[in-house]
Amino acid sequence: MAAAPFLKHWRTTLERVEKFVSPLYSTDCNLRGRLFGDTCPVAALSSFLTPERLSFQEAIQQDFRPAQVGDSFGPTWWTCWFRVELTIPESWVDQEVHLRWESDGEGLVWRDGEPVQGLTKEGDKTSYVLTDRLGEGDPRSLILYVEVACNGLLGAGKGTMIAAPDPEKMFQVSRAELAVFHRDIHKLLVDLELLLGVAKGLGEDNQRSFQALYTANQIVNVCDPAEPETFPVAQDLASRFFDQRGGESQHTIHAMGHCHIDTAWLWPFKETVRKCARSWVTAVQLMERNPEFIFVCSQAQQLEWVKNHYPGLYARLQEFACHGQFVPVGGTWVEMDGNIPSGEAMVRQFLQGQNFFLQEFGKMCSEFWLPDTFGYSAQLPQIMRSCGIRHFLTQKLSWNLVNSFPHHTFFWEGLDGSRVLAHFPPGDSYGMEGSVEEVLKTVAKNRDKGRTNHSAFLFGFGDGGGGPTQNMVDRLKRLYNTDGLPRVQLSSPRRLFSALESDSERLCTWVGELFLELHNGTYTTHAQIKKGNRECERILHDVELLSSLALVRSAQFLYPAAQLQGLWRLLLLNQFHDVVTGSCIQLVAEEAMCHYEDIRSHGNKLLNAAAVALCAGEPGPEGLLIVNTLPWKRTEVLALPRPGGAHSLGLISSPGDSAQHGLCSRSCPHLTAAPAAPAACVCCARATANSVSRPPSAKTDGSVTLDNGIIRVKLDPTGRLSSLVLVASGREAIAEGAVGNQFVLFDDVPLYWDAWDVMDYHLETRKPVLGQAGTLAVGTEGGMRGSAWFLLQISPNSRLSQEVVLDVGCPYVRFHTEVHWHEAHKFLKVEFPARVRSNQATYEVQFGHLQRPTHYNTSWDWARFEVWAHRWMDLSEHGFGLALLNDCKYGASVRNSVLSLSLLRAPKAPDATADMGRHEFTYALMPHMGSFQDAGVIQAAYSLNFPLLVLPTPGRAPVSAWSAFTVSSPAVVLETVKKAETNPEGRVLVLRLYEAHGSHVDCWLHTSLPVQEAILCDLLEHQDPAGHLPLRDARLKLTFSPFQVQSLLLVLQPPPELSP
Ligand SMILES: [Zn+2]
Repeated sequence: MAAAPFLKHWRTTLERVEKFVSPLYSTDCNLRGRLFGDTCPVAALSSFLTPERLSFQEAIQQDFRPAQVGDSFGPTWWTCWFRVELTIPESWVDQEVHLRWESDGEGLVWRDGEPVQGLTKEGDKTSYVLTDRLGEGDPRSLILYVEVACNGLLGAGKGTMIAAPDPEKMFQVSRAELAVFHRDIHKLLVDLELLLGVAKGLGEDNQRSFQALYTANQIVNVCDPAEPETFPVAQDLASRFFDQRGGESQHTIHAMGHCHIDTAWLWPFKETVRKCARSWVTAVQLMERNPEFIFVCSQAQQLEWVKNHYPGLYARLQEFACHGQFVPVGGTWVEMDGNIPSGEAMVRQFLQGQNFFLQEFGKMCSEFWLPDTFGYSAQLPQIMRSCGIRHFLTQKLSWNLVNSFPHHTFFWEGLDGSRVLAHFPPGDSYGMEGSVEEVLKTVAKNRDKGRTNHSAFLFGFGDGGGGPTQNMVDRLKRLYNTDGLPRVQLSSPRRLFSALESDSERLCTWVGELFLELHNGTYTTHAQIKKGNRECERILHDVELLSSLALVRSAQFLYPAAQLQGLWRLLLLNQFHDVVTGSCIQLVAEEAMCHYEDIRSHGNKLLNAAAVALCAGEPGPEGLLIVNTLPWKRTEVLALPRPGGAHSLGLISSPGDSAQHGLCSRSCPHLTAAPAAPAACVCCARATANSVSRPPSAKTDGSVTLDNGIIRVKLDPTGRLSSLVLVASGREAIAEGAVGNQFVLFDDVPLYWDAWDVMDYHLETRKPVLGQAGTLAVGTEGGMRGSAWFLLQISPNSRLSQEVVLDVGCPYVRFHTEVHWHEAHKFLKVEFPARVRSNQATYEVQFGHLQRPTHYNTSWDWARFEVWAHRWMDLSEHGFGLALLNDCKYGASVRNSVLSLSLLRAPKAPDATADMGRHEFTYALMPHMGSFQDAGVIQAAYSLNFPLLVLPTPGRAPVSAWSAFTVSSPAVVLETVKKAETNPEGRVLVLRLYEAHGSHVDCWLHTSLPVQEAILCDLLEHQDPAGHLPLRDARLKLTFSPFQVQSLLLVLQPPPELSP
């Protein structure tokens, strides 16, 4: 035990030690002031400034001009390349020599044409080790390059971090010199900081705390910073403290180096490529210097970027992956948003991710890694399990604004009952720095004390990259096993989860979604990105289906596997948790829109190519190919192109009468002459006031009624819905005395995270947007379609126009909406008060749906005042309900009996232009008898989102309609038809189906395709060894449990032309 201080004075003792290690005070005589010894300027410094992100080879051929310390460079997003010529003084033999570099921006050191280390002041990396010990004959002259990006770790926000970037920001180099580094002083500083941490962290009630403080005090007594001979005694004192071991019951912390890099956020995608290089090359250096250091790294996309741009670095990563020091985790293409992507898109995150990890690193990931995402769908456990993943890590729920999540280690059970072992690092961060305070917090805050004795500790600068430092590693190594503190192991996810598994019988289970009680504005912000996402999910669905059918029908057709992979990867990239959520800067939003445009234009070309192949070889008249890409029969009114660019309405039935459900393609050469409307017709009547109440003057009341025999819609003179009747039942769906289609505007000023958050108090500022009577006009007069339209001034700056459309035979009324939106911190929603009472509303999620409360009983209920849904939401009581469908919206809520769809926000940070301008979207309202399942709400929402395709055929279209698949149960949705990933030459299709009603069901899948063999497989398309399905009379029997997703491999017979 070290000697105690002369007097018992906690504060002076503590502060004395603090001053001894301070970088600010007493550096003339303290230990910190001696960390570096002699210095010498670099021999020559020159620079070259460019707006481009050049490769090293391109950069070094440029014209470098003399530069000096103190020079400014910029502006934002430019790059300054420095050429650093240096000569180490001969007298520094036997010393450790560093290049000390301090500049604004993010730097990367290049040596001999390869990146070697990141240099970022914000990331605590300002020193590059030139040599651990300069040898007698070692070369002492060297040329390095430092590539400095003109942005900080977290972008270039003007004023605050999340403010829009300042385009004029300038950067400065403030230090470039050689210096002797004193490793022994560094070690003592680490020890003293840890001792201070123990003293402060354990506090004045704790024996061990005083032992730490007195040890530190004694070190100050014995250690003379100017006399290195005094250091060993000081080191011995420290070691005596740290070597006092803990007991067997100590908690174990699994410390893993990590570096969360947002794939795009406050900086553009292209900068992320360089962020990866800067961060990971630094991690590689740490791996070299610390064989026990383990670095975990997620997001296949980022690895692919590094593979393409930094092949030398990538080879090193692969090498360290073999040693187990570099550990790829996550299993997904990017760390995607956990709410908005469709079920199929989530599957593709894993399919693209896991295949990449397997191909590049020899194995798939066994844990899903999503530390920083804004909520987690209840279908994720099933998707994970079917993608070879049993473990899940995040910490974001610690951001909950209202309720504190009750577990850190637990089983998470999804919608279908699948379970994964979930862990939230109890320190509530993925960017720890290895301090004693964090280590103690990890133990203290763990909500599963007594259930499990292990937890994760992720250290390294994150969000904008940076990653761990040698300092952090040194601290954590020192805390390996010390009495009074938890045991700290430099560990891996595999070790952590196997330790947690062994405690698993004591763990609790959380059922259903992991809802983040914050960032609920991200369901709505950047409406164009949301729309692009929904639209591109549809396009890729349709391209895969048509290409699969073309593959079957045409021996010449080449399935566009490579193109589809490229387009899918673009879509998946945009589903990153700061892109599809709309929480990114303008530059990123613009890039995202370009990605969607690429998917649209290439996707449409691929659709047309598939259509051509589908029509080939079939005699028939020239015309249009009409394709129903949904697995059930549809009869819909369609606008068909006519020569000269005009359109006419046609009533299209698909497929032939016999197929109950089916994918169908058919030629429609005659449909420009629309068939007569059947019995249920659309009629639009302008009801006059005279007919109702005979007011004194002859002016009309201006309301319009649309009626197709299924529903009857009455719009008031301002376009609001005064009545919605389900004709067969005579039931009114709109609440008594209320109106639907009511636009409402809210003030929307969150506390800090502007693009992310909508706060509960916005509800207190509700203002209905009132239109002017007489603005409602009849649009289409009837026949197959009736419509009315109106204009609505939302505010002095924003206006809306809407066409309310009712088609013959259609069970829902559509609201085609156009908004010119120019607002600041306003939130636009549309409300439908329903004549329905229920404590639960239902919302569509990935491959299913779930219920959320319509009341604010408990804090868990009211914290969900704004929630997310996919294509539909429904409020039903026994026997009757009202569903609200949409084609590109995600934010929603149902309070009491009011269904509300969130339409547009106007946040100003980090993108001041977010959502400004023109928007177009459609929502629809469907009253129904019975349950929403039996009434076909799910199918209706699909139909709204997947219109019948009308594709021109250059030649002759097939004469007869045909159907590829029929499913016997309406509970089962055939979601995806694609070619299998593996075996590019083979003719194997993958079908993905799911149970959508929440029921156990047996069903028959009928196919008209020449199928040889059918085998069940997982989501990664690996066949289930016991999954061979008997195929009789072109039918397969499938059995589903509620919300179960099943995939099938269909091995096709060789095409007829190729048969022997
Ligand atoms: Zn993030």
